[in-house]
This record gives sequence, structure tokens and C-alpha cells, in this order.
Amino acid sequence: MTRIVIVEDEIDIASVVQDYLRHAGYETTHFTDGQSALDSIVAAPPELTLLDIMLPRLDGVEVLRRAREHTAHPIIMLTARIEEVDRLLGLELGADDYVCKPFSPRELVARVRAVLRRTAGPAFGGQGSGSGPASQDDAPGLVLDDVHWRASLEGTPLNLTRREFGLLQVLSRHPGRIFSRARLLELAYDDTVDVTERAIDSHVKNLRRKLGAVTPAHDWIRSVYGVGFAWEAPVPA
Ligand code: CA
Repeated sequence: MTRIVIVEDEIDIASVVQDYLRHAGYETTHFTDGQSALDSIVAAPPELTLLDIMLPRLDGVEVLRRAREHTAHPIIMLTARIEEVDRLLGLELGADDYVCKPFSPRELVARVRAVLRRTAGPAFGGQGSGSGPASQDDAPGLVLDDVHWRASLEGTPLNLTRREFGLLQVLSRHPGRIFSRARLLELAYDDTVDVTERAIDSHVKNLRRKLGAVTPAHDWIRSVYGVGFAWEAPVPA
């Protein structure tokens, strides 16, 4: 049975979430503080963890940070404020997804399913995002490893999050094509519930920074005002 750990000190929220997940066929374990949850998920990682941020004893960000030293199982963060998501994305702690409170339990279950499906599969963002390696002409020096979600540019590992990897995959395989944020959500993310356009901007910003650290002279991702983003291959010398 698929076991899900819920870390949430607000009992009312936790019990609703627990009811919905059990009804959906998942086994659940509930913790009300960060330290107990961390001890448990390190000792016996579940299939997925739902992790609130504001928690007694050890906050969710610290639980995530420490848990990631021991386990790669999917973790979905529960945040009280949408503004918090940008900050969290910037920290690159390795959460698999974020859900903003208040959320509908039904949406949360859909998100859990999507993350489990995505992390169980051999590749991230497979549907409709194209396949095969990027052409060397379109993206010289860029190598994408779809199986391990790793990318390197001119031999330098880019150290991307899965979201960033998904965006890089879509953009770099269609050089010059302008993608709206809505289209990127569709192609680079398996599940779009609650993913905001601001989150995309934040992912693109981080991706651009990482690419720029390797090739400062070239900006690979062009912002198209009011529309979205496009991949820009450098002009051959
Ligand atoms: Ca809380």
C-alpha cells in the first residue's frame, strides 16, 4: 500500500486531508511536529510526504533540508501564502511540489497522484515535451539526460531542479519558438493545479542564471514581453 506521511500541526486540516487520502486508497501517518516527522521519514521513508512549513519544534523548511540528506522520496510542501512559494523555489531545497493554503482536499489528492505518477516514471515531463537529444546546432554544448534529469552545458553540470529541467527540455528542443507561460505549464509540468505564472517566471529566472554562469556572453532564454519565453541559439561566429 502506498504510504503518505502528513506533517501538519493544524488538526482540522490534517484530519480532512487524511480522510480524503484514505478514501483515495492511501495509507496515512500523521505527525504534528517537525522533529518527530523527520525522525520517522528518515528511519522509514514513505512513498510521499505532505509537509507543512509552520510547525512546532522544527519548521518544514528545515525538515525538508535535513530529510534530503537521507531520502529522495517525493515531498510536497504546504504553504500558507503564495508569496512564500517564490522564496521556497529560490532556496532550491528539493521539494517536488508546493500547494498553497487554503487548498481543496480534492485538489490536494490530485496533486499527490500527479507527483507519485511523475516520480515513479522513468522521465519527467514526458508527455508532449518532445524526445531525443537536443540538436547540437540548436543548443551547442548542451547535453540533456532525460532519465536522471541532469543537464550540462559545455561540460559543466547545471545542477537543475526537476522544474527547471522540464523547462530547459521544452525550450531548448524548439529553438526560436515562443512559448506562453500557459503553454509551458502544459508541456513542462505534469500537473498544473495551483502552479502560478509567477512560479514559472521564478523557474525561468533560476534556469537563466545557471546557464548564464557557464556562458556569461550569451542569454539563452529570451523574454518576449507580454507573451512568454523563447530559446535563443547563439549566432555562429
Ligand atoms: Ca502549521
